[in-house]
Amino acid sequence: MYKTKAYSAASATSALAGATISRRDPTEHDVQIEILFCGICHSDLHQARNEWQSVMPTAYPCVVGHEIVGRVTKVGAAVTGFKPGDIGAVGCLVDSDHVCPECQSGFEQFCPGGVFTYNSPDKHLGGVTYGGYSGSIVVDHRFVLHVPSSLDLAGAAPLLCAGITTYSPMRRWGVGKGKKAGVVGLGGLGHMGVKFAHAFGAHVVVFTTSPGKKEDALRLGADEVVISRNADEMRKHAGSFDFILDAVSADHDLNAYIQLLRRGGNMTLVGAPERPFPIAGFGLLFGNRSLSGSLIGGIRETQEMLDFCGAHNITSDVEVIPIQKVNEAYERLLKSDVKYRFSIDMASLKAE
Ligand code: NAP
Ligand code: ZN
Repeated sequence: MYKTKAYSAASATSALAGATISRRDPTEHDVQIEILFCGICHSDLHQARNEWQSVMPTAYPCVVGHEIVGRVTKVGAAVTGFKPGDIGAVGCLVDSDHVCPECQSGFEQFCPGGVFTYNSPDKHLGGVTYGGYSGSIVVDHRFVLHVPSSLDLAGAAPLLCAGITTYSPMRRWGVGKGKKAGVVGLGGLGHMGVKFAHAFGAHVVVFTTSPGKKEDALRLGADEVVISRNADEMRKHAGSFDFILDAVSADHDLNAYIQLLRRGGNMTLVGAPERPFPIAGFGLLFGNRSLSGSLIGGIRETQEMLDFCGAHNITSDVEVIPIQKVNEAYERLLKSDVKYRFSIDMASLKAE
């Protein structure tokens, strides 16, 4: 066991602050990583503030962060894919049982024995797992990903959650040439959704509550931008979408978007607001429309997404911040003021 610096939440209402945490010494299957960048996902905020209490209550102290890119500092004897000095990346998952049907089909995120990067039981040290707002992490090599060498590391970190969470449902629902795809909410996930839908060849429409993001949306790959609070603009798109990705972090009306789906169209929810949604069933009945959800993606698909990003030069648009600005960044997330992902330069932790 060794110590490393971190930023942790002591309770649902306390600001994140400097702390020291323990990590296990790498076992023969482990990779030890010095963390260089960690993206800030809105899920970090939900979890640190215990907003998902009814589904995933937070254990304190809590160290969040699951968009991790760093340099490998040590590997166990059985590890073949990485050596010290390599770049390694870790997303939302750090372990699973590898034998259940979910693992066998590449859906480790649904493994009954799955371990999330933070706030999951830690079988090695007891307590819960601690995430990437820290100096170093030790992870089973099967959950460490390769980042294409052409990609900027600060911008690559958010691919590990925002990237795979948007890539996976768009692949599943066949977003591509000849299809009209909507993205609701131009935040961290949303802007990656726009980049992927554009790269897949779809006609992309962004729905935003922030008129000031219009130019950015077009630059990121949108063909059209709709200000979602304008009912007339919304109505013009009624019954026309093959697919809509909803990446909103707060309460909003899903029914308005379901009306925009064509016959057989699908809306997939990736946003995870605190409270349940009221759904008008008739909106789904008429037009055989469907509403579904999607949770991150498995390890194989995450590597596929990273390789796709390498081939198409896709990274997240990031604002790099020192860890000392993390509480301010959270307040800005709540004001939809992120362009379009915060990426923490973890070297700043050394000043703590
Ligand atoms: P984010 O960067 O904060 O972006 C959220 C965006 O939602 C905002 O930029 C804003 O876009 C829009 N929005 C915010 N408040 C709104 C409101 N009251 N009404 C309508 N739109 C609003 O968040 P994120 O990191 O992308 O995460 C988005 C959600 O996905 C979070 O709930 C997060 O926990 C969840 N998530 C889910 C998964 C999964 O596996 N399913 C993975 C990661 C994250 P505009 O300014 O354009 O309106
Ligand atoms: Zn996330």
